[in-house]
Amino acid sequence: MSVAVEKTKEQVLKMGSKMACAGLVTGTWGNISARVPGENLYVITPSGIPYDVCRIMDLVVVDGGGRVIDGERRPSTELKMHLAIYNARADVGAIMHTHSDYAGALAVAGKPLPPILEDMVQLVGGEVPVARYARAGTANLAVAVVEALGDSNAVLLANHGLVGLGRTVEEAFQVCMVVEKSARVYTWASLLGRVNIIPPDEVAALRDAFLTSYGQPKKDAEHRAPGIGKI
Ligand code: 13P
Ligand code: ZN
Repeated sequence: MSVAVEKTKEQVLKMGSKMACAGLVTGTWGNISARVPGENLYVITPSGIPYDVCRIMDLVVVDGGGRVIDGERRPSTELKMHLAIYNARADVGAIMHTHSDYAGALAVAGKPLPPILEDMVQLVGGEVPVARYARAGTANLAVAVVEALGDSNAVLLANHGLVGLGRTVEEAFQVCMVVEKSARVYTWASLLGRVNIIPPDEVAALRDAFLTSYGQPKKDAEHRAPGIGKI
């Protein structure tokens, strides 16, 4: 396998342990994938292996059709969903699927997460929609997710969990973190009796500012905004 594949594997493995440490998943549920830059290949986590014992050699490399190119393990049962998202969204470089608590509460209630916080809006680009219920791991779920997603960088899966997208695995992780925090804030604000939503023109301006000028210039690789120019 190429240097690019090996580098992508390292990024996915590292983010698996960050996702588990952040409490975004319970047990072995949830999964992560990333496009290999310059190749029609994807690295995805194996199905049902705990993140604290997962090793580089457990990761699976597949092509755009889902054929296993490298790895001994079975790929995540959500492989179809990951590939359908990559197919629909050329801007997406990495996908994280979590089962976090407050996102789960909204997914169970069937309530989209409105644009309520500026960091969420910058990373997600607006409201987080809810994909209709479809059984985990099915082609039907892959279709439901792509139908609901539109241009958003996050989508809730009815009675299931959350999917966060990013240009990099680090950014997909940040999307899942900020959606979970925003779902928590939304739940509390709803209990307080009022939810003020950020208006559409302000949402667009915040997203644009994030994409064009947030963080440090590209040449400063250590401190640039998450994901900018890394793919
Ligand atoms: P995998 O362990 O197969 O990745 O599946 C977990 C999951 O979250 C299914 O939706
Ligand atoms: Zn799941």
